[in-house]
Amino acid sequence: FDTSDTSAHAKPSDTDYEPKAHPAVSPDSIVQGLNDGQFTLHYQPVISCAAGTPVGFEALVRWSHPQAGLLLPQHFLAVAETAGLIDRLSEIIVSQGLMWFSRHFRETDLLLAFNLSAHSFHGDSFIDRIAAASRSVDIAPERIVLELSDTGRVSDPTTTLNILTRLRVNGFQLSIDDFGIGYSSMSELLRLPCTTIKIDRKFVTTAKHSEEAQKIITSITDLGRRLGLRVTAEGVEDDWTLSFLATVGCAYAQGYFIGRPMEGKSAVEWVNQQEH
Ligand code: C2E
Ligand code: CA
Ligand code: CA
Ligand code: CA
Repeated sequence: FDTSDTSAHAKPSDTDYEPKAHPAVSPDSIVQGLNDGQFTLHYQPVISCAAGTPVGFEALVRWSHPQAGLLLPQHFLAVAETAGLIDRLSEIIVSQGLMWFSRHFRETDLLLAFNLSAHSFHGDSFIDRIAAASRSVDIAPERIVLELSDTGRVSDPTTTLNILTRLRVNGFQLSIDDFGIGYSSMSELLRLPCTTIKIDRKFVTTAKHSEEAQKIITSITDLGRRLGLRVTAEGVEDDWTLSFLATVGCAYAQGYFIGRPMEGKSAVEWVNQQEH
């Protein structure tokens, strides 16, 4: 990955979204956006449930579209995947995220998580590139979490498993994203060399008013502990839920109650505010 500084500029903040690709999104417009540096990252804080202190961020891609404004992943990711542009996008995201992270947090032990489409593991060059990128910005692979979703549906499971295993051997952390909703969640635990489970936010946002959701969260946390995996909950929208997660022994939490996805500058300020 190219880790020279290309970090771009997204001004507007997240808005509520309606599903489906935005009308302005075509493969050609994505290529244009890639060439013009219109893709940028927002960072959402992750904290320790027990201590309440920052443990890192999840990088979430945004598209600063010249006409449509700030677009969320659901407006363009599917088009990018279908058009075979996801590798180029991931490359930009990883180098941009690592540059930012190294500039501000190299001397800390915070983590940075990236979302990777399982479809983007076409060749082993991915391992070499992310390893070289993390080395060039002096961030240990142990501080980089790769969040995987939809791994049950890749066209070549053997190659994917091979690449994930080698990433793990190289020290990168692997997390099963959206745990609990995929039809293959449980078998992924057996198959994949993961270090973290990320409980799907559907369970977390409903926990406060659903005993069933609470039991599912308790069970997943218990399962994670037995398997020696760290459990993260996303979608924490109120303090009741955060306390509940601490009580059941969930390690990490993320959600609007803790912090929204924000621009790099605000994310740095957020960490500084936590420490004082
Ligand atoms: P995800 O990985 O499950 O990311 C969490 C999503 O939940 C994010 O939506 C985040 O903004 C949202 N969220 C965070 N806290 C809360 C909360 O308290 N309540 C609720 N209701 N939602 C919350 P976002 O940023 O729109 O991303 C959507 C999905 O797009 C992500 O789901 C991920 O699968 C994908 N994605 C995002 N960035 C990337 C990327 O760089 N590469 C790839 N391949 N996929 C990405
Ligand atoms: Ca994720
Ligand atoms: Ca998720
Ligand atoms: Ca997802």
